[in-house]
Amino acid sequence: MYPRSAAPRGRPAYSNGLYPPPPVTRCYDYNHQSLGGVNSFHVPELQRLPPYEWNPPRSTSNVPPPHTPTMTNGRKRQNIEYSPHMVKRQRLDSVSHPLLGSPVIQAPSPPRHLEQVRAESSRSSITSYERSYSSPHFDIHPQGPAVPESFNSLQAYAKDKLSHQMVELFEACQQQSSDLERKERCRARLQRDIQDIYAVARLYLTGSSMNGLGCRSSDADLCLVIKGTKRPDPIFVLSHLQRAFRSLSYVERTQLIRAKVPILRFRERGSDLEFDLNINNTVGIRNTFLLRSYAYADLRIRPMILVIKKWARHNQINDASKGTLSSYTLVLMVLHYLQTLKDPVLPSLQRDYPECFNPFVDIDMVPEGPKRVPPYVSRNQSSLGELLVGFLRYYATEFRWDKQVISVREARALPKTNSHEWTNKYICVEEPFERNNVARAVHEKMKFDAIKAEFAESYRILKDRKDLNSILPVRAVINKESSRR
Ligand code: ATP
Ligand code: MG
Repeated sequence: MYPRSAAPRGRPAYSNGLYPPPPVTRCYDYNHQSLGGVNSFHVPELQRLPPYEWNPPRSTSNVPPPHTPTMTNGRKRQNIEYSPHMVKRQRLDSVSHPLLGSPVIQAPSPPRHLEQVRAESSRSSITSYERSYSSPHFDIHPQGPAVPESFNSLQAYAKDKLSHQMVELFEACQQQSSDLERKERCRARLQRDIQDIYAVARLYLTGSSMNGLGCRSSDADLCLVIKGTKRPDPIFVLSHLQRAFRSLSYVERTQLIRAKVPILRFRERGSDLEFDLNINNTVGIRNTFLLRSYAYADLRIRPMILVIKKWARHNQINDASKGTLSSYTLVLMVLHYLQTLKDPVLPSLQRDYPECFNPFVDIDMVPEGPKRVPPYVSRNQSSLGELLVGFLRYYATEFRWDKQVISVREARALPKTNSHEWTNKYICVEEPFERNNVARAVHEKMKFDAIKAEFAESYRILKDRKDLNSILPVRAVINKESSRR
């Protein structure tokens, strides 16, 4: 179960009024796993937002909530030293702790008959079929105002101006529960319509909408899973869907993109909500939940990544279709930096909890694994601003683009080998499951040089100025994001 956040009461105390608030009620979604009574930031008297769930079939959902060490004041433990022994202990605990239960990931039971599904679909927009068998869905509950304790905890990392600016940008731009609900409603509707053509197809929301790293303006990535003995040709299926979507009143501007992973891009009619739909690219579901686990492993990760995505977008180095970095590549680059600090902010979750990120587990069980990952407690207490400057410094001055491969899987830079995957590539970033190069879009020297130049220039400026506005027009970005939806 992936609970939502709680909405703040009014503006944050530190807000200096520089930035106009966005037009909708904002909520802070700092907490990944605030399962009743066991999460680090659980505040019993505060009303919670609706939980975000992706339920496996009932017979297999026997996974108890994770063990989350808390202090009596409900805060996350901060001063435990990280050591390989501790990781090992956590790992052992994750198997033997009574709250955690069995680590065995069981196979899901088969889906029910389509007729039954249809009967339920006609009764409710979010059906019990979807609750049980399909992609993430919502329990729609009223949303109560509340200030999560984690909000205060983030302030510990935001005592300087640069860090304040980062928190403020994050809070104004992060994906809201209403954004996700809208995407989910559209997904559920699309799934029902697609099942008229492909009866056994299942549609999953992936990417930043689901991994905790989304903005209000993020697109919705969808993976259509069509199981069967013969793997369907994605271009064939997408062309078919493109024709079929013409009759859907809520879809417009379909466009077939014949990339390595072909996608059908379209919009929800009359809105700026864009969808990218792929066929059977299920690694995207697995890595979405890996990234989600990293995103919520430490409070600083989500603000840090959002700011870096905005910085890269502003400086035109965040567009794989134009030969620069995809958001996915950028995220892995940030995680790698945080994993390789002298005092790491993040471990390798795949190395430390392989059973939670088993690449062969059934897709419907993928969200179950991360629930059993205990929270990571880093000794590193750097502020958000220090981490941002450090990130720019690392890629501007330390990382050896010509000799190293970024591996989040191993939490280190690997030496470039002569394998086809890495030779003659400007940037090498390993996909954590498939181990291929996610940065292959950067194939022009000019684009590669532009990326490096942006890191160097932004580092040069920010290290002295320590003002986010010196590398990114914060107010303009917030205003643009606030005008969405
Ligand atoms: P944004 O908020 O900018 O849309 P995003 O997290 O959705 O960011 P994208 O680069 O649009 O990132 O990719 C969407 C998702 O597709 C990723 O989160 C990942 O799950 C999957 N993905 C993208 N590129 C690859 C790749 N090369 N290999 C495997 N999965 C990928
Ligand atoms: Mg996306």
